[in-house]
Amino acid sequence: MRQRNLHFTDVATLSDALSSSDIREQGARARSILVQIFSAPTDRQWIETVAGEALRALPKAVVIGATTVGEVADGRTVVGTTTLALSFFDSTDLVPVAFACEPGEEHAAGSRIGRAAAGGGEPPAGLLLLATPLSLDAAQLLRGIADTAADVPVFGGGAGDYAVMGRSLVSLGTTCFERGAVAVLFFGSALAIERRTYLGWQPLSREMTVTGVEGTLVRTVDDGPAFDIYRRYLGIPDDRNFFLNGLEFPFLFQRDGQELARVPIAVEPGGALRFVADIGVGETFRLGYGNPSMIVAEARTIQDTMSRFAPEAVFLYTCGCRRFLMQEDADLETAPFQTIAPTAGFYTYGEFFGQGHGLHLLNSTMVAVGMREGPRIAQGAAVPPAAELPAEVADPYANKHSRVVSHLVHFIDAVTRDLEASNRELTRLSITDKLTQLSNRAMLDVTLDKEISRSNRHGETFSVILIDIDHFKQVNDRHGHNVGDAVIVHVAQVMKRMLRDCDTFGRWGGEEFLAILPNTPSDKAEQVAETMRKAVQESRVPVVDSKTVSLGVTSFRIGDTPALLVGRADKALYGAKIAGRNRVVRL
Ligand code: GH3
Ligand code: MG
Ligand code: MG
Repeated sequence: MRQRNLHFTDVATLSDALSSSDIREQGARARSILVQIFSAPTDRQWIETVAGEALRALPKAVVIGATTVGEVADGRTVVGTTTLALSFFDSTDLVPVAFACEPGEEHAAGSRIGRAAAGGGEPPAGLLLLATPLSLDAAQLLRGIADTAADVPVFGGGAGDYAVMGRSLVSLGTTCFERGAVAVLFFGSALAIERRTYLGWQPLSREMTVTGVEGTLVRTVDDGPAFDIYRRYLGIPDDRNFFLNGLEFPFLFQRDGQELARVPIAVEPGGALRFVADIGVGETFRLGYGNPSMIVAEARTIQDTMSRFAPEAVFLYTCGCRRFLMQEDADLETAPFQTIAPTAGFYTYGEFFGQGHGLHLLNSTMVAVGMREGPRIAQGAAVPPAAELPAEVADPYANKHSRVVSHLVHFIDAVTRDLEASNRELTRLSITDKLTQLSNRAMLDVTLDKEISRSNRHGETFSVILIDIDHFKQVNDRHGHNVGDAVIVHVAQVMKRMLRDCDTFGRWGGEEFLAILPNTPSDKAEQVAETMRKAVQESRVPVVDSKTVSLGVTSFRIGDTPALLVGRADKALYGAKIAGRNRVVRL
């Protein structure tokens, strides 16, 4: 396999390049030829012209194309051009498949592509997919492929349009599709394909939860309109530039241990956010932002892997937002691939990556694909030079933007984590009794309310036990307040051990405690109270040696308010006191 990449803005330059003796020779030698057109212009005529020229020079070529948000030619990020990636194969057969798909036909189109891949004989070594995610449901398209060709690795990208969000195209030969999918299947036992994807995005915001979803529309986040988080945290208005402004701040999820990003493409009435891929109710996420240092570091890891694979060509399908984020430093991520093998690709509106159930439409990622025919030839293939953001360079302002962004993103992440940790601690303090570290009165009140509404809804009952230490005043009088405190802590610990994890046990006030036992009838609660009483009686209490408690038990009755319920438990407790203390009374 041999790879040649061209980039140009006019037909004359293209014709000249295509008629060079090198290209003609490669064309004559090759068993098959793949031409990928990555085109900044989105008009059909241009793509037809370019495809026509390619077919004229290389009649047996399979020519496919996609419009872009930026092109990668020989590892360089270029804009406003058309890039041609010409792959000359010695032993591989290419089978192109293309479908226009109207809304609702995506799964069927995917299935047809999958069946072409799975249809008899050896499965293909890979499936390159170009599609128009702006105008079709790419998640359904991928599902169709995964359902019919689970064992075929898929890679590729979604056509872009330089953020116009209006018109993106894919093509096969000289036919363009505004809504469609174009696939190329690679058949041949000698062809090896190495595929990698990476993100390099860092969480910025606190964690949030998706609470309302309809298809690929996220209606609510933390029970508020989803869009509000973009206005509130990022100051991004709900206007026609929303996509452009929000692009670099995707939702970041963890799914199956993998970090996933999802970029909203539009705000719908009512503040819902439209995505091009699936998001589920209950999924938690943070808003993220690309960290250039992380991107470059992760690119470096993939480049090492690629370098060991020793490909003859590298293709990059990389999210448009990476170019917007990295600006003039975009090459830091793409250029080192060129030192491994000729590298071409485009900036996308979504990346296709995976196989079977692991096949996903990704956002914000880079998909890197290395190909070679035959065994690895290069011994100790050239390891690309380190592409770190250099700390000391001749020009101290070089890569300044990326470095500042890296530090700021790091800063925001660190501040967010600090705040979350303080919030967790504040929440804990606000519901914890300082002396005993049990739930405090406020927490008990909340739990009572919750249990009462749960019982009213589901008709199951729960019980409470109110406990008071007997003759406690004497402890304070004889031994002082500090010993009194130690006794309270000790008695609390002994009783807590008799309860289940699902029970709530807290300090009601002074030397009184309340246990709330969900899903427990009063006779069962009475038994529990008895074990608590015994445990206290049998325990050795610091300094004072022995102590007893009296306990009042009751369970929830229809119409109970917290005051009525606890009032009844208090009455039972009073009954225990007047009956001689150190006992349980149930009402
Ligand atoms: P009874 O058996 O009738 O309950 O007798 P008692 O002496 O325990 O009477 P009561 O419940 O009325 O007395 C509670 C005492 O507990 C009064 C108060 O000084 C003391 N107390 C309340 N909170 C604390 C505390 O946090 N630490 C200490 N050391 N003592 C407390
Ligand atoms: Mg008391
Ligand atoms: Mg008491």
